[in-house]
Amino acid sequence: MNFHILTLFPDMVMRGMHTSIIGNAAEKGILEIEAVDIRDYTKDRRRKVDDYPYGGGAGMLMQAQPVYDAWSAVAERILGAAAEGATGECTRENGEKRRVRTVYVTPQGVPFTQAMAKELAAEEDLVILCGHYEGIDERVLAEIVTDYISIGDYVLTGGELAAMVIVDAVSRMVPGVLSNEISGESESFEGHLLEYPQYSRPECWMGKRVPDVLLSGNRKKIREWRTAQAEQRTRERRPDLYRQYEKLQQCREILGRKKLLHIDMTELIVRGKARLVAADGANICLRDADSGIYFLTAESPEAGRTLLDGIPREPGVLLVLHQEFLCGPAMEHLGTNKRMDCCQLVYTRREKLSVAGLYCEEQTAQDGAILIRKLGPEYADTVFAHYEMAGDPAYIRERIAKGCMFGAFSDGELAGFAGSHTEGSIGMLEVLPEYRGRKIGKALETYMINRFLEQGYTPYGQVKAGNEISMRLQESLGLYAAKEMVYWVGAI
Ligand code: SAM
Repeated sequence: MNFHILTLFPDMVMRGMHTSIIGNAAEKGILEIEAVDIRDYTKDRRRKVDDYPYGGGAGMLMQAQPVYDAWSAVAERILGAAAEGATGECTRENGEKRRVRTVYVTPQGVPFTQAMAKELAAEEDLVILCGHYEGIDERVLAEIVTDYISIGDYVLTGGELAAMVIVDAVSRMVPGVLSNEISGESESFEGHLLEYPQYSRPECWMGKRVPDVLLSGNRKKIREWRTAQAEQRTRERRPDLYRQYEKLQQCREILGRKKLLHIDMTELIVRGKARLVAADGANICLRDADSGIYFLTAESPEAGRTLLDGIPREPGVLLVLHQEFLCGPAMEHLGTNKRMDCCQLVYTRREKLSVAGLYCEEQTAQDGAILIRKLGPEYADTVFAHYEMAGDPAYIRERIAKGCMFGAFSDGELAGFAGSHTEGSIGMLEVLPEYRGRKIGKALETYMINRFLEQGYTPYGQVKAGNEISMRLQESLGLYAAKEMVYWVGAI
């Protein structure tokens, strides 16, 4: 991922960002951080970039021209085409229109959160504009800024520290930046809970002992203890977060009454991705913080309509409905006729599946064995060409970049692939025609199930109605199918 920070103090940014984990990631080429000196773009002979605000008032304001020119130079480099003004859109040679994601850090912005960090980490390039003095001429902001972000309700002298905070938090979500990838997924603010207390050696320090349960080796007990501690800590320190957590737990309990049908929704809650849009008894609407997809379940068409009222009628909105009677009103609401019916299948056991005779994960294995490993960007086109339901190549690229696509290799050649979708289901399973009949689909599915279990998730997938081969494969691995279908409606 590339960060481009527009600033009057490039040294401050570069010094701050080239140490420790972020510095190491930059050295390895996983991140690229450049600080662009706005002053280099001023047309003033004395390199002045500020002037008095019209209408009077304290302090100076950064002028529009140098900010715009600095931004344009960066945008043109990113997109390979000049920006066309308003909204910062550029038309590339192939006719594709693109915007450069441009954040202005300002106390007037939306408060920065972990969810925003995750979302921004999906960008390949991110421009961050730092203000100084009393801020920046509004006209240039209107022209180039896509997001206004604040790092808290206080006023800093300049945007550099705020930009560094954002770069740091976003970078941690970029695959490969943290040595242990799971740690980026399971810490404070995931699931609306603060993290539990942690202890390291020695077992006893200044007379204080590490809690016995952590030394017990009993994984279940440790997990329960940590959840209880995280709940207590959040209740005491962040009652606002705790209230949201409690509401989601109530939803989880209600959804759990039809466990197989609602597995997608309960897993959003368990994985800390659920945002509560509306809940009234068993009528619930959640939004996945990662994909933006809405999930609805309702007891009646009327209750469903009330839930739909809270969903914007914008292009790109995607809904997962858990009752067929919601389809008509939802399609009317979004003005679409696109619908896909799927069956949810859930692996309900905790034990991992045996991989004997299916695959290995190291090249050291015996000749002829299937090797499964993470796919790199060089496989995006092949995956796109073979995945039957591939809609958008950008989605495949994004899944690969996030480290969520895995390939099965036979003698070094890609024989099939599978991955996890943004909202959390296992999918995108495909075996290349010449490799069919060699249990490669079973190997990939087994690999994905075991991977999910290792992360403490309940593995589940969705099979499009009519795909009997996939249904048989899932059921042969012990997954249970929900009796009722789910319905995807909108920008499928
Ligand atoms: N007059 C401005 C206002 O009230 O919104 C404050 C300007 S502040 C002194 C100078 C710059 O620091 C801003 O343009 C912004 O880039 C940055 N800044 C200050 N506080 C910030 C915060 N809480 N979050 C993000 N950026 C901040």
